[in-house]
Amino acid sequence: MYQINDNYQKLPGSYLFSDIAKKVKAFSDANPDAKIIRLGIGDVTQPLVPAIIDALHGAVDEMAKAETFHGYAPDLGYEFLRNAIAENDYKARGCDIAADEIFVSDGAKSDSGNIQEIFSLDNRIAVCDPVYPVYVDSNVMAGRCGTYDAASQMWSNVIYMPCTRENNFVPEFPKETPDMIYLCLPNNPTGTTITKAQLQEWVDYANKVGAVIIYDGAYEAYISEDDVAHSIYECEGAKTCAIELKSFSKNAGFTGVRLGYTVVPKELKCGNVSLHDMWARRHGTKFNGAPYIVQRAGEAVYSAAGKAQLKDQVGYYMKNAKTIKEGLKDAGYEVYGGVNAPYIWLKTPEKMTSWDFFDYLLEKANVVGTPGCGFGPSGEGYFRLTAFGSYENTVAALERIKAL
Ligand SMILES: *Cc1c(COP(=O)(O)O)cnc(C)c1O
Repeated sequence: MYQINDNYQKLPGSYLFSDIAKKVKAFSDANPDAKIIRLGIGDVTQPLVPAIIDALHGAVDEMAKAETFHGYAPDLGYEFLRNAIAENDYKARGCDIAADEIFVSDGAKSDSGNIQEIFSLDNRIAVCDPVYPVYVDSNVMAGRCGTYDAASQMWSNVIYMPCTRENNFVPEFPKETPDMIYLCLPNNPTGTTITKAQLQEWVDYANKVGAVIIYDGAYEAYISEDDVAHSIYECEGAKTCAIELKSFSKNAGFTGVRLGYTVVPKELKCGNVSLHDMWARRHGTKFNGAPYIVQRAGEAVYSAAGKAQLKDQVGYYMKNAKTIKEGLKDAGYEVYGGVNAPYIWLKTPEKMTSWDFFDYLLEKANVVGTPGCGFGPSGEGYFRLTAFGSYENTVAALERIKAL
C-alpha cells in the first residue's frame, strides 16, 4: 500500500477564509435583506487598465497568425519582460540586478510556496507573526516545522517574530538563529512596513549569521514614504543573502491574469553552490513558463501609459485606505497600516477577541473583515480591513462603523 506525505496531515483542519465564508453565509441566510459589504479579502476589484488590455489584445492577435504564434515560453521568461523588469524595478532604483537574475513565474504565491524546496529540511525558518500563511504552511508540507500546538497556534520548529503595537510592528532579531527568514514588506496583513535603514540591519544580520532572507515585495507599488525601500537590493550586501519575490497581482490587478517573478542573484551562494543555478534547474524542471500573452501584458505595466494608469489605480485603492484609516480614527479606533499598503490593521476595542469583533462588525454593521488571529498568535486582538473594495462601498462601510 502506498503511503502519503504525512506532513499534510499535520496542517490544522480549519482554514481562515473558509471559516469566514461559513459565518457570512449563515448570517446572510438568516438576514436576507442585509446589504453586506466585504472588506475582508485581499483581492483587487478594479478592471485591468487600458494599456494592459491593449497589450493582451495585441498578443492574442499575434497568436492567431503562424508567423507570430508563440508556443512554450522560455522557462525563465521572455527577454522583453525580464529586460523591462531589470530596467524599471531595479536599474531605475540604483539596484544592480541583471535580467538573467530574474525568473518570471505565474505569481508570488507559487514562488513563495516553492522556494523552500531548494533548502535543507534541517533549516529553521523564522517568520513575522502575524504572517502570510503560505510561508509557514508550505514549510509544514515539506516537513520543516515540527509539531503543531493548537493552544498556542505555534509550530515547535518555527521561530516566530512578533510584530505588534508594542514593537511598532518592527520584527526583532530572534534569540535563536534562523537559517531562512521570511520578510513581507510592506506587510500583509498588518499594512505596516519598516524603513530602509531598518531593512539594512536585517541584511547585515543575515549576512552575519549566514541566513537567507526570502523577501516578499508584493505591495511595493503602494509605498508612499521616501525612507522605505522598494526592493531589498537597495540595501548593501543583499545580493549575498536575499531572494526577492514580486507579483503583478496588487500593483497591476493581475490576480486573475497571473504573473510574478523571483530574483535569485548570481552572488547568492551557499558555500560554492549557486542558488541561482539551483532555482534555474528547479524552474526548468517543474515550470513551463508564464503565458506569452500574459508576459506581453506584464511588459505593458512598464510602458509610459501603463505606469500612469496604474499610478491612478493604486491611488484609487489608497484613497480607500485613507478613508478607512481616518474613518476608524474618528470612530475612536487604534489603527495601523494604510500608508504604504492597502491594508488597515486595527486593535479590537475593549479587549474583544478578533472573532468577537468579526461577529460584532458583521451583525451590527454588516461589514466583513478578517480576524487578525487567523494570521498567527500575535494577530489575536487585531482585525484587518482591506482597501480593495469600491470607493462607494468603502465610504458606506465606514459610515456604518462610525454610527455604531
Ligand atoms: C497577494 C500576495 C501575493 C501575490 O500572490 P500572487 O500569487 O502573485 O497573486 C504574494 N504575497 C503576499 C504577501 C500577498 O498578499
